[in-house]
Amino acid sequence: MLAGRPLKLWKIASLMLMLGGAFSAQSQERVSLKFPAGQPDPQIAAALKNVSPATIESNLGKLVGFGTRLTLSAQDPEAIAAGQGIGAAREWIKSEFERYSRECGGCLEVRVDSFTEQPADRIPQATQISNVYAILQGTDPERAKSIVLVTGHYDSRNSDTFDSKGAAPGANDDASGTVVSLECARVLSKLKFPGTIIFLTVAGEEQGLNGSQHFAKMAKQQGWNIEAVLNNDIVGGNRSPEQDTGVVRVFSEGVPAAATEQQLRMIRNLGGESDSPSRELARYVGEVSRTYGTQVNPLLVFRLDRYLRGGDHYSFNQQGFAAVRFTEYREDYNHQHQNVRTENGIEYGDLTKFVNYEYIARVAQLNAATLASLAAAPAPPANVRLLTKNLENDSTLTWDASPEAAGYEVVWRDTSSPVWDHSQAAGKVSRATMKYSKDNVIFAVRALDAEGHRSLPVVPSPER
Ligand SMILES: [Zn+2]
Repeated sequence: MLAGRPLKLWKIASLMLMLGGAFSAQSQERVSLKFPAGQPDPQIAAALKNVSPATIESNLGKLVGFGTRLTLSAQDPEAIAAGQGIGAAREWIKSEFERYSRECGGCLEVRVDSFTEQPADRIPQATQISNVYAILQGTDPERAKSIVLVTGHYDSRNSDTFDSKGAAPGANDDASGTVVSLECARVLSKLKFPGTIIFLTVAGEEQGLNGSQHFAKMAKQQGWNIEAVLNNDIVGGNRSPEQDTGVVRVFSEGVPAAATEQQLRMIRNLGGESDSPSRELARYVGEVSRTYGTQVNPLLVFRLDRYLRGGDHYSFNQQGFAAVRFTEYREDYNHQHQNVRTENGIEYGDLTKFVNYEYIARVAQLNAATLASLAAAPAPPANVRLLTKNLENDSTLTWDASPEAAGYEVVWRDTSSPVWDHSQAAGKVSRATMKYSKDNVIFAVRALDAEGHRSLPVVPSPER
């Protein structure tokens, strides 16, 4: 038996490699052809056209112009007046959100979530950290209680996590993600949605995810119903010959960080390792990309983050929220967390000249399309169940009908398939019987409105 083991592992590894290949941008279209592409909403499609590489370039240049945005850098009134340090960055982001709000008749509520972080590993003294965000309140009283959120971190660093004075341009990491939040706010604030959208920028990421942790805990404590978090970190499309500007990686956790022991048992028993709410969100991003024909295709990476690395979406995962990370296809480590310098002919530093504004604009369009699609859709069906009282080869699903949904759709896939390959309209009902065995496929149900906006799919719990 022992002798057979390495071979088995090798087989699994090669299967995973093959599966990995199937997720590539080129073949993603192919694996999902059976799934009908949604019809684009003309209003959303028009808003996406307003995403501007020129605005993105100007905003990113402004952020880099603050010299350093290290969380430990200056935030006193003199530094803010001089336009240097993280305090100046915070005030500018706030003023931008306020400007967008004036342009839409005060449609955005701009808030600053400030707190004092006590000394820790990368925080030598008590430090004020501020998250800046804008809320586009939903128009439907019930649906507005649900929130979709886009975030990026506006703090930066160079080679030394404690260097509060030296240049830390952070053009890619993560002015790029910050401008995605800003640009989504600018273009989507011109529309109205039943659901609520939050455009967030956080600080403290480089010191230990401090800003996002504070925000996610606050959201949990206040009972906010956050359906989706899109974290953009390093989406600058670093200009190198190996870069693929047609692809953005979307990372999602498999087994939820916040799962209880009972939930973990259920995941093990039912083969639910690839159906966390974050994974469903990642698949949804893939569908949105096809519906709107975005110029950047998500490469779904079924992993929390890059190998042994982390980011702000994890703070939300820890509080039980669905959250994914967008990152460019290929990172250049000479252009992240580096002092600006030239050594042996190699240029180091996270400078504006290495980022690609057209690419950031494409990523912003994919984010905006996802936020808009979710905020336009009815709530996901509640209390989705798969009946298991009798042993039978058909599969019966039930759920609570909600008044806002015009109908429902059952989606399914083989257990080894990465994405929802099949769907079937179920009408305005709260029960559907499928001619497929629950043993062999994974089912989920989602809600649709009259225009075809789709909610996130919900995987059923067994009803005994
Ligand atoms: Zn980052």
